[in-house]
Amino acid sequence: MKIYACTEGRSGQVDAVSLEMIAAARSLARDGDDVIAFFAGSAAADAAGKFGAADRLVAAIAPEADIVVAGTYARQLCDVIAAKGAGIVVVPYSANGLDVASSVAARLDWPLVSYVEKIGRDGQSLSVVGQLYGGKVLADCSVPLPAVLMVNPGAFAEATATPLSPDRIDTIDIAEPVAASRARPISIDLPDFSDVDLKAAERIVCVGRGIGDEASIDLARDLAALLGAEIAGSRPVVDNGWLPKLRQVGKSGQKVKPQLYMALGVSGAPEHLEGMGQSDMIIAVNTDPKAPIFNVAHYGATCDLFELMSSLSERLQPSDT
Ligand SMILES: Cc1cc2nc3c(=O)[nH]c(=O)nc-3n(C[C@H](O)[C@H](O)[C@H](O)COP(=O)(O)OP(=O)(O)OC[C@H]3O[C@@H](n4cnc5c(N)ncnc54)[C@H](O)[C@@H]3O)c2cc1C
Repeated sequence: MKIYACTEGRSGQVDAVSLEMIAAARSLARDGDDVIAFFAGSAAADAAGKFGAADRLVAAIAPEADIVVAGTYARQLCDVIAAKGAGIVVVPYSANGLDVASSVAARLDWPLVSYVEKIGRDGQSLSVVGQLYGGKVLADCSVPLPAVLMVNPGAFAEATATPLSPDRIDTIDIAEPVAASRARPISIDLPDFSDVDLKAAERIVCVGRGIGDEASIDLARDLAALLGAEIAGSRPVVDNGWLPKLRQVGKSGQKVKPQLYMALGVSGAPEHLEGMGQSDMIIAVNTDPKAPIFNVAHYGATCDLFELMSSLSERLQPSDT
C-alpha cells in the first residue's frame, strides 16, 4: 500500500511540519508499504535533502511559483494517486492543509478524519483518536481504508532529516496548471520582527482569555519582567487588541519553543498547542482541571491565575537586603 505524506513549504524551502507528516505516515507503514512524501513548490532540493525518512518523494515543480495554492496542490496529488494508487493520505492541520485534506477527500470520495492526535493500524482499518471541541473531547474512531487523515502539528515528533537519493525522487512539471489556476497568490506579507521575536525567546509568559481584560495584562507583564520572559497571548487576547499580533502564539501566530512557557488562563485548543507544544517546560495555570492545556503541561496549577501571579510576583521580588 502507498501512504502519502503531504508536505509543505514556500520558495523551495520545506516547513518542519513536513517531517512530522512523514513520521506519522511511517508509523502506519507495514512490510511492503511505501511511504511517499508529496511536495509542491518551486524547487525540490530542500525536500530531497531532508525527506530521507520517506521511501520516495514525488515533487510537483513550478519554478516560478513561490506558493502552490491548495486547489492546485490537491488536484496534482489526486492525479498521482489516480495513476499510482494509495491507501492513506496524511495531511497537516495547517491553513493550507485544511483546504487540501477536504479537497482530496471529496475528489477521491474517501473518509476524512480531522484533528488527529493518534493513529493505529489494524489490517484494513485505522483506529484514530481525533480531537473535538478544541481538544476538550477525544473521539475514538475506526476508519476503513482508504482514508485521509488531517493530523495536528505536534502530534508526531519530526522524522530525522536525512537526504533522499536521486533515484527515489519523481518530479512532475506543474508550471502550466499553476499558471492556469483560478486562485493566485498576490503578495506575501511577512511580519516585522523588530519589536519582538518570540521564536528567539527563552522564556514566555502567555496570557489567554482567562486574563479577563486588557488592564490585567499589566500584571502578567510585571510577572514576565521578573522572570526575564517575553509576554505573549492566545488569539482571543490578540483579537481583542490587548496585545499586538506579533505576540500571538499558535497556528495563525508564532511557533515557539522556549525553555519555559507559562500559560495563564489558556485552555489549550489545538490551534494554540500547535504553536507551543514543543516547549521544553510548560507550566499551565487554569481553574478548569479538564482544560486540554494540562495534557501537554509538565507542571500545572488548578487555581485562579490572579492569585498565582500575585503570590509568585511577591516571591520573585528582588529583596532590599
Ligand atoms: C484556523 C484557526 C487558527 C487559529 N489560530 C490560533 C492561534 O494562532 N493561537 C491561538 O491561541 N488560538 C488560535 N485559534 C483559536 C483557538 O481555537 C482557541 O479559540 C483559542 O486558542 C482559545 O484561546 P484561550 O485559551 O485564550 O481562550 P479560552 O478557550 O476561552 O480559554 C480560557 C481559559 O481560561 C481559563 N480561566 C478563566 N478564568 C481563569 C482564571 N481566573 N484563572 C485561571 N484560568 C482561568 C478557563 O478555564 C479557560 O480554560 C485558531 C482557530 C482557528 C479555527
